Amino acid sequence: MNRPFLSIRAVRKAFGAFIAVHDVTIDVPKGEFLTFLGPSGSGKSTTLYAIAGFQDPTSGDVLLEDKSLLSVPSHKRNIGMVFQRYTLFPHLSVAENVAFPLRVRGRSDSEVKRKVADMLALVRLEKFADRYPGALSGGQQQRVALARALAYDPPILLMDEPLSALDKKLRQEIQAEIRRIHRETGVTILYVTHDQEEALHLSDRIALFKEGRIEQIGTGEDLYLRPASEFVAGFIGNSN
Ligand code: ADP
Ligand code: MG
Repeated sequence: MNRPFLSIRAVRKAFGAFIAVHDVTIDVPKGEFLTFLGPSGSGKSTTLYAIAGFQDPTSGDVLLEDKSLLSVPSHKRNIGMVFQRYTLFPHLSVAENVAFPLRVRGRSDSEVKRKVADMLALVRLEKFADRYPGALSGGQQQRVALARALAYDPPILLMDEPLSALDKKLRQEIQAEIRRIHRETGVTILYVTHDQEEALHLSDRIALFKEGRIEQIGTGEDLYLRPASEFVAGFIGNSN
């Protein structure tokens, strides 16, 4: 394998005596769409937060192109995030929401303008630039969040259950959108879901979590056709 782009090395997270994540190790090649799949409480978000910089791991390391991210503050990691708890600014228009990460980085007005237009085109919301988030559907809000997360061309995009609040039809629509954006931008995506259909549909590889450990990692086909345990077979085979 090539030198890994993102390397998650023996990441452990303890809350008091309870170990939520047990020495998780994953190498992620550039451009991969990797999904953390697993039941609620299995440590998916905690692992993602260690990469995002929301919560430092108890031990282990996270390396981006061989450089540890752990000493880099969250807002300087250049990682785009679409989290349920990382929502749009309600008092800013769609265009200003997307512009925000660019303004924080001191980009010029002309660059901001061009990039916002590009990003709104990417998520097909050109006509909504002047609206406020409150006047958008849930799906449109998530597309704006995606445009904002990608506005400054971060090499990595983290998404934690970004579609879980949406109904099934909208979920499928935005899944298709996410796939297209992954294809068009080549951004490396780490995606969290508890929905195996979503994982199978979106991912290059799936890391299936169980009780803070990776039970199996591989392509959807690997997990589906060659499950390493009954847990994997049950989780992947179950449809909801
Ligand atoms: P998932 O995202 O897979 O649903 P989490 O990573 O959120 O799971 O949580 C993994 C485990 O760690 C759960 O048992 C959860 O209750 C526990 N946990 C998460 N955050 C905290 C915290 N801040 N304090 C104590 N326990 C936590
Ligand atoms: Mg979670």
